[in-house]
Amino acid sequence: MNKMFVRYDRNRFSDSQNQLIDEALEFAVRAHEGQVRATGQPYVIHPIAVAEIVADWGLDHEAVMAGLLHDVVEDTPVTAAELKKRFGAKVGELVEGVTKLRLSATPRPAVDSPRSVASNENLRKLLLASTKDYRVLVIKLADRLHNMRTLAALDPDRRVRIGRESLEIYGPLADRLGMGRVKTEIEDLGFEYGYPGEYEAVAQLVRSSAKKAGRHLAGVKRAVVGFLAEAGVGVVRIEARQKGYYSIYKKLAKVDGDIDKMYDLVAVRIIVPDVAVCYQVMGILHQHYKPLIYRIKDYIAVPKPNGYQSLHTTVFAEGGRITEIQIRTPQMHEAAEFGLAAHFYYEAHKSTRAYSERKVVGAVPRGLDWARRLTLLQKSSGTEEEFVEGARLELFGDRLFVFSPKGDLYDLPEGSTPLDFAFAVHSEVGLKALGARVNGRMVQLDRRLENRDVVEIVTRRVSAPSRDWLGFVVTAHARSRLRAWFKSQGRAAHVATGRQEVERVLAAWGIKRLEEVPKAVMAEALDGWHLRSVDDLAVTVADGGLSAAAVVRRLVPEARVAEVMPSGGLDQRPAEGVPGKVLVEGEELPYSLAPCCEPVFPQPLVGYVTRGRGVTVHVQGCRNMPRDVERLAACRWRLSGRN
Ligand code: MN
Repeated sequence: MNKMFVRYDRNRFSDSQNQLIDEALEFAVRAHEGQVRATGQPYVIHPIAVAEIVADWGLDHEAVMAGLLHDVVEDTPVTAAELKKRFGAKVGELVEGVTKLRLSATPRPAVDSPRSVASNENLRKLLLASTKDYRVLVIKLADRLHNMRTLAALDPDRRVRIGRESLEIYGPLADRLGMGRVKTEIEDLGFEYGYPGEYEAVAQLVRSSAKKAGRHLAGVKRAVVGFLAEAGVGVVRIEARQKGYYSIYKKLAKVDGDIDKMYDLVAVRIIVPDVAVCYQVMGILHQHYKPLIYRIKDYIAVPKPNGYQSLHTTVFAEGGRITEIQIRTPQMHEAAEFGLAAHFYYEAHKSTRAYSERKVVGAVPRGLDWARRLTLLQKSSGTEEEFVEGARLELFGDRLFVFSPKGDLYDLPEGSTPLDFAFAVHSEVGLKALGARVNGRMVQLDRRLENRDVVEIVTRRVSAPSRDWLGFVVTAHARSRLRAWFKSQGRAAHVATGRQEVERVLAAWGIKRLEEVPKAVMAEALDGWHLRSVDDLAVTVADGGLSAAAVVRRLVPEARVAEVMPSGGLDQRPAEGVPGKVLVEGEELPYSLAPCCEPVFPQPLVGYVTRGRGVTVHVQGCRNMPRDVERLAACRWRLSGRN
């Protein structure tokens, strides 16, 4: 066999580290001796290529060694224990991690079918491994990338399977790690092999528009260089970026299949020395080209959850043609292209000496907060299924950012509600949530949040979550906290609370216990509510699913008719002719009965002074009553004879 080399920048490592890499290479060559790839080349070509990719991405010498050795345990008699003894525990663990990480997806019928299908067990392994040491994931990506690059050698069936699997798992993984360039390459290869027909269609569309787009971009570039020179702004470089084929495919439906309407098909990318110049350049561009206001995006001030930073603007450029322009610094550019790897790279360059001593390479970099949450999730989840469901969402779902009123940024999965936000802030806030203000307006807790919403949670003093909440929270964290709370409460306590609430109102009609309600009436009412038993009813009331007043109106026919006064030996009755009339601070002031608790005589009352709509009258102790003490008003039922 010819002498094998690993091509990488040897200056990045110390002599002893380079020595170790050489030894790992020798070991791999010997271990894979005689094995051949589908391409007909010696097998060891593959681990060498993986090590080169890993080195190119800026990872440390241990990761490069693990890249060289990554298939040794799987495909040769060598064991992980032997590797640990020979190359140290760290390298051995990395190889073990990569070996155990068998990610696979089951085939899907169509490219756009919605469900992600990574098998639970494998996804769990992926996540466990990822939270321990990120280098495992990066090596795994390098492994997949090289396999994708050489996929042509395999038979068509396997190409399709591996292509689709890459779209499902490895593309999103690269994205979550912030490795934009790798993501695009994996997705485009995955798309080409996984869905050859669709790929060809997109390729043809791109070809048809490429010439025109190229000429246009050249014109924009020339003009922009002129504008910036005139303003005396120094630029590192200007380049054109072509959108990935798979991204184009996913976006085609939004533009009715008309590729000319896809404004970011090609973008102009301006790389400038520092952040201040980024904003300056955006200002200069807007002086010459009218921007589409809603497409101005400041990902420098508000980075994407994977750490991506840049300014984006879409303008009417030369000839009025709509064009996307991205502005960023060289550091932002590197981070966008190489993500986590760039993070390691910069760490390495801070001080090369210190780097070689550095032990904690696997620590969580900023912008990868999701990984930390996964660790928490794993600790708090009840069942494995719950964990995997949640994890799938955390890792593969699209993200949403919202703000607290103080401006703290929260990163939530798409479809999240104010309640998910509340639990993300703190479990206590979630459990005590009463309502939410989104961009200053009160909304229901189940409303879907939008990007950049400012969310404020209105809380009550005590925890009183509703079972309904389980029906709409999206994050596994919120769900698991709610489950835990309900479990700790126990059904018996709920039944007792709900029963008490209903019976307190029933007492006004001379009924002391729910059992005194005629059986037929109760049965019909339960049926109407789709409840099975009186206990279920009590639980529903305790959870806030039904108000006690509404229950009583259903159970006691008289309660439905306001004119008829309750019986039951009460010596206080509301004033004649104005039944149910309420006095506010002893006066006849405009008021309305709160729809949340629907007060009925003789429940004790309290008023809340609204802005412009008079006083809203609640039952004392109503959970939905705002807690602004200064705006409370004394209220009572107006009784005949003695006001
Ligand atoms: Mn491999």
